Amino acid sequence: MTHIVAISPHLDDAAFSVGGLLAAHARAGGRVTIVTCFTGNVAQPTGFALACQFDKGLGPEVDYMALRRAEDVAACAVIGTQAVHLPLLEAPHRGYASAPELFAARRDDDAMLAPLTAALAEQVAALAPDLLLGPLAIGDHVDHWLVRDALTSISDAVLLWEDWPYLTRARSRPSDAPAIEHVLSPQDRAARIGMCAAYRSQLSFQFGSVAAMEAANDLVVTERLYAAPATPSYRPEVHDQRRAEHEDQQR
Ligand SMILES: [Zn+2]
Repeated sequence: MTHIVAISPHLDDAAFSVGGLLAAHARAGGRVTIVTCFTGNVAQPTGFALACQFDKGLGPEVDYMALRRAEDVAACAVIGTQAVHLPLLEAPHRGYASAPELFAARRDDDAMLAPLTAALAEQVAALAPDLLLGPLAIGDHVDHWLVRDALTSISDAVLLWEDWPYLTRARSRPSDAPAIEHVLSPQDRAARIGMCAAYRSQLSFQFGSVAAMEAANDLVVTERLYAAPATPSYRPEVHDQRRAEHEDQQR
């Protein structure tokens, strides 16, 4: 039985980006595990971390990450896959203090790469995937870049997905030929929408509404994955250049 392990930065990224591929594999009798990296929480979030929770309409009394972990378990149940939650802290708990900072260069005091790489190496050794998947970091979220860099340092066989819905706002797609181009069947799309719908706390923020999420999914024809480039991925100057181009394009 072929085992696909998808390494998701946050609770929703793997389903949003390759939910159809994972659903098809599970439906064909394959094994799927979704490992989500940044699912830890602090007891009493403050500042931007708390604001991220208010953004989703949730008060300070709500255990935001516990809620999101439960949503992920529900999403995985849609296709009968296993969820693994690593208790690492996401960027708003590591000193990133605003939404623009989440998409800017990595902070000098961000020491997450080493523990993340160690945790993922342990997971990959234990889960022994036949196919290892992770994010390309389209959209430039700092947490997505960390996962990409950790994975590409662990494995030269990892395949990287186009981050969705960031992809819909991206200026261009990768110019390489994809290693996998999975055309969504109606069943895949239904499963993908079912998984996306499980992340209820994220839907209005990401899409506006459940109907808008479904409409956005209807426009997705294929899920594409790429071989990791041989060159080191994260370089601040490249990141800043891409960022400038992105901002230019938004003007
Ligand atoms: Zn994410």
